[in-house]
Amino acid sequence: MSMEDYDFLFKIVLIGNAGVGKTCLVRRFTQGLFPPGQGATIGVDFMIKTVEINGEKVKLQIWDTAGQERFRSITQSYYRSANALILTYDITCEESFRCLPEWLREIEQYASNKVITVLVGNKIDLADKREVSQQRAAEFSEAQDMYYLETSAKESDNVEKLFLDLACRLISEA
Ligand code: GDP
Ligand code: MG
Repeated sequence: MSMEDYDFLFKIVLIGNAGVGKTCLVRRFTQGLFPPGQGATIGVDFMIKTVEINGEKVKLQIWDTAGQERFRSITQSYYRSANALILTYDITCEESFRCLPEWLREIEQYASNKVITVLVGNKIDLADKREVSQQRAAEFSEAQDMYYLETSAKESDNVEKLFLDLACRLISEA
Protein backbone atom coordinates (compact mmCIF):
# COMPACT_ATOMS: atom_id res chain seq x y z
CA MET A 1 0.00 0.00 0.00
CA SER A 2 1.40 3.39 -0.96
CA MET A 3 1.26 6.45 1.26
CA GLU A 4 -1.57 7.91 -0.78
CA ASP A 5 -4.85 6.17 -0.39
CA TYR A 6 -5.88 6.69 -4.00
CA ASP A 7 -4.90 5.75 -7.53
CA PHE A 8 -5.83 9.07 -9.14
CA LEU A 9 -6.20 12.63 -7.90
CA PHE A 10 -8.01 15.19 -10.02
CA LYS A 11 -8.81 18.84 -9.47
CA ILE A 12 -12.24 19.86 -10.72
CA VAL A 13 -13.21 23.54 -10.78
CA LEU A 14 -16.72 24.98 -11.03
CA ILE A 15 -17.30 28.21 -12.90
CA GLY A 16 -20.33 30.11 -14.20
CA ASN A 17 -22.48 33.06 -13.17
CA ALA A 18 -23.48 33.56 -9.56
CA GLY A 19 -26.79 31.88 -8.72
CA VAL A 20 -26.70 29.08 -11.29
CA GLY A 21 -26.30 26.43 -8.59
CA LYS A 22 -22.59 25.59 -8.47
CA THR A 23 -22.44 25.33 -4.69
CA CYS A 24 -25.62 23.25 -4.59
CA LEU A 25 -24.18 20.84 -7.18
CA VAL A 26 -21.02 20.40 -5.10
CA ARG A 27 -22.97 19.89 -1.89
CA ARG A 28 -25.36 17.46 -3.53
CA PHE A 29 -22.45 15.38 -4.80
CA THR A 30 -20.13 15.56 -1.78
CA GLN A 31 -22.68 15.62 1.05
CA GLY A 32 -25.86 14.29 -0.53
CA LEU A 33 -27.91 17.30 0.45
CA PHE A 34 -29.60 20.36 -1.02
CA PRO A 35 -29.03 23.40 1.21
CA PRO A 36 -32.28 25.11 2.25
CA GLY A 37 -32.91 28.78 1.44
CA GLN A 38 -30.03 30.93 0.21
CA GLY A 39 -27.55 29.35 2.59
CA ALA A 40 -25.46 27.65 -0.05
CA THR A 41 -22.18 29.44 0.59
CA ILE A 42 -19.67 27.11 2.12
CA GLY A 43 -16.74 29.47 2.46
CA VAL A 44 -14.10 26.86 1.78
CA ASP A 45 -11.96 26.56 -1.30
CA PHE A 46 -12.54 22.92 -2.06
CA MET A 47 -14.28 19.74 -1.00
CA ILE A 48 -12.96 16.22 -1.41
CA LYS A 49 -14.81 13.13 -2.48
CA THR A 50 -13.23 9.80 -3.28
CA VAL A 51 -15.07 7.53 -5.69
CA GLU A 52 -14.27 4.06 -6.97
CA ILE A 53 -14.26 3.49 -10.71
CA ASN A 54 -13.44 0.05 -12.12
CA GLY A 55 -11.65 -0.83 -8.88
CA GLU A 56 -9.55 2.34 -8.91
CA LYS A 57 -9.77 4.87 -6.09
CA VAL A 58 -10.25 8.29 -7.60
CA LYS A 59 -9.89 11.29 -5.33
CA LEU A 60 -11.73 14.36 -6.59
CA GLN A 61 -10.75 17.75 -5.26
CA ILE A 62 -13.69 19.97 -6.17
CA TRP A 63 -13.20 23.73 -6.12
CA ASP A 64 -16.12 26.09 -5.67
CA THR A 65 -15.83 29.87 -5.91
CA ALA A 66 -17.11 30.93 -2.46
CA GLY A 67 -18.84 33.85 -4.16
CA GLN A 68 -15.93 35.53 -5.99
CA GLU A 69 -17.79 35.18 -9.30
CA ARG A 70 -20.16 37.93 -8.15
CA PHE A 71 -17.29 40.39 -8.24
CA ARG A 72 -15.62 39.00 -11.36
CA SER A 73 -12.55 38.49 -9.25
CA ILE A 74 -11.80 34.90 -10.14
CA THR A 75 -8.13 34.86 -10.90
CA GLN A 76 -5.62 32.73 -12.64
CA SER A 77 -4.72 30.90 -9.43
CA TYR A 78 -8.23 29.46 -9.28
CA TYR A 79 -7.86 27.80 -12.68
CA ARG A 80 -4.25 26.77 -12.18
CA SER A 81 -3.75 23.00 -12.29
CA ALA A 82 -7.44 22.26 -12.88
CA ASN A 83 -7.83 18.95 -14.68
CA ALA A 84 -11.47 19.63 -15.44
CA LEU A 85 -13.88 22.55 -15.47
CA ILE A 86 -17.61 22.37 -14.89
CA LEU A 87 -19.03 25.40 -16.70
CA THR A 88 -22.51 25.87 -15.31
CA TYR A 89 -25.52 27.92 -16.41
CA ASP A 90 -29.13 27.94 -15.23
CA ILE A 91 -31.66 26.64 -17.80
CA THR A 92 -34.21 29.14 -16.41
CA CYS A 93 -31.86 32.09 -16.86
CA GLU A 94 -31.07 33.18 -20.41
CA GLU A 95 -28.51 35.68 -19.08
CA SER A 96 -26.44 32.89 -17.50
CA PHE A 97 -26.29 31.17 -20.90
CA ARG A 98 -25.42 34.35 -22.78
CA CYS A 99 -22.43 34.85 -20.48
CA LEU A 100 -20.87 31.52 -21.49
CA PRO A 101 -18.59 33.02 -24.18
CA GLU A 102 -17.09 35.29 -21.51
CA TRP A 103 -16.36 32.26 -19.37
CA LEU A 104 -14.82 30.49 -22.35
CA ARG A 105 -12.49 33.44 -22.85
CA GLU A 106 -11.37 33.10 -19.22
CA ILE A 107 -10.78 29.39 -19.73
CA GLU A 108 -8.75 30.15 -22.83
CA GLN A 109 -6.75 32.71 -20.93
CA TYR A 110 -6.17 30.95 -17.61
CA ALA A 111 -6.73 27.20 -17.84
CA SER A 112 -4.40 24.51 -19.12
CA ASN A 113 -4.90 23.68 -22.78
CA LYS A 114 -5.42 20.06 -21.72
CA VAL A 115 -8.34 20.86 -19.44
CA ILE A 116 -11.58 18.94 -19.96
CA THR A 117 -14.64 21.20 -19.90
CA VAL A 118 -18.19 20.04 -19.24
CA LEU A 119 -21.13 22.34 -19.93
CA VAL A 120 -23.88 21.90 -17.35
CA GLY A 121 -27.42 23.28 -17.57
CA ASN A 122 -28.70 23.16 -14.00
CA LYS A 123 -32.22 23.45 -12.43
CA ILE A 124 -34.05 21.08 -14.79
CA ASP A 125 -36.62 20.55 -12.02
CA LEU A 126 -37.89 24.02 -13.04
CA ALA A 127 -38.86 22.85 -16.54
CA ASP A 128 -41.86 25.21 -16.78
CA LYS A 129 -39.49 28.17 -16.39
CA ARG A 130 -37.00 26.99 -18.99
CA GLU A 131 -35.43 29.79 -21.07
CA VAL A 132 -32.60 27.84 -22.75
CA SER A 133 -33.58 24.90 -24.94
CA GLN A 134 -31.63 21.66 -24.91
CA GLN A 135 -31.03 21.97 -28.61
CA ARG A 136 -29.48 25.40 -28.29
CA ALA A 137 -27.16 24.23 -25.53
CA ALA A 138 -26.28 21.04 -27.38
CA GLU A 139 -25.35 23.03 -30.50
CA PHE A 140 -23.26 25.46 -28.46
CA SER A 141 -21.41 22.70 -26.62
CA GLU A 142 -20.76 20.81 -29.85
CA ALA A 143 -19.31 23.88 -31.51
CA GLN A 144 -17.02 24.37 -28.51
CA ASP A 145 -16.15 20.68 -28.29
CA MET A 146 -17.56 20.36 -24.78
CA TYR A 147 -19.42 17.50 -23.19
CA TYR A 148 -22.94 18.65 -22.20
CA LEU A 149 -25.35 17.53 -19.49
CA GLU A 150 -28.43 18.89 -17.73
CA THR A 151 -28.81 18.50 -13.97
CA SER A 152 -30.92 19.27 -10.96
CA ALA A 153 -28.99 19.75 -7.74
CA LYS A 154 -32.35 19.99 -6.01
CA GLU A 155 -33.76 16.70 -7.26
CA SER A 156 -30.37 15.00 -7.48
CA ASP A 157 -30.88 14.49 -11.19
CA ASN A 158 -27.71 13.62 -13.15
CA VAL A 159 -25.41 15.02 -10.45
CA GLU A 160 -23.71 11.71 -9.66
CA LYS A 161 -23.51 11.03 -13.39
CA LEU A 162 -21.89 14.40 -14.02
CA PHE A 163 -19.00 13.77 -11.63
CA LEU A 164 -18.58 10.06 -12.33
CA ASP A 165 -18.58 10.50 -16.13
CA LEU A 166 -16.06 13.28 -15.71
CA ALA A 167 -13.86 11.08 -13.50
CA CYS A 168 -14.00 8.32 -16.14
CA ARG A 169 -12.94 10.74 -18.85
CA LEU A 170 -10.15 12.10 -16.68
CA ILE A 171 -8.84 8.58 -16.07
CA SER A 172 -8.98 7.71 -19.75
CA GLU A 173 -6.99 10.83 -20.63
CA ALA A 174 -4.57 10.61 -17.68
P1 GDP B 1 -23.98 29.51 -7.07
O1 GDP B 1 -23.96 30.99 -6.84
O2 GDP B 1 -23.72 29.19 -8.51
O3 GDP B 1 -23.07 28.76 -6.14
O4 GDP B 1 -25.48 29.03 -6.81
P2 GDP B 1 -26.08 28.34 -5.48
O5 GDP B 1 -25.66 26.93 -5.40
O6 GDP B 1 -25.79 29.22 -4.32
O7 GDP B 1 -27.64 28.36 -5.83
C1 GDP B 1 -28.30 29.60 -6.12
C2 GDP B 1 -29.80 29.45 -5.90
O8 GDP B 1 -30.34 28.48 -6.81
C3 GDP B 1 -30.15 28.95 -4.49
O9 GDP B 1 -31.31 29.61 -4.08
C4 GDP B 1 -30.42 27.46 -4.69
O10 GDP B 1 -31.35 26.97 -3.76
C5 GDP B 1 -30.99 27.44 -6.12
N1 GDP B 1 -30.69 26.18 -6.81
C6 GDP B 1 -29.49 25.60 -7.01
N2 GDP B 1 -29.60 24.47 -7.71
C7 GDP B 1 -30.92 24.30 -7.98
C8 GDP B 1 -31.67 23.30 -8.68
O11 GDP B 1 -31.18 22.31 -9.21
N3 GDP B 1 -33.03 23.50 -8.74
C9 GDP B 1 -33.64 24.59 -8.17
N4 GDP B 1 -34.97 24.67 -8.29
N5 GDP B 1 -32.95 25.54 -7.51
C10 GDP B 1 -31.61 25.40 -7.41
MG1 MG C 1 -21.70 29.46 -4.73
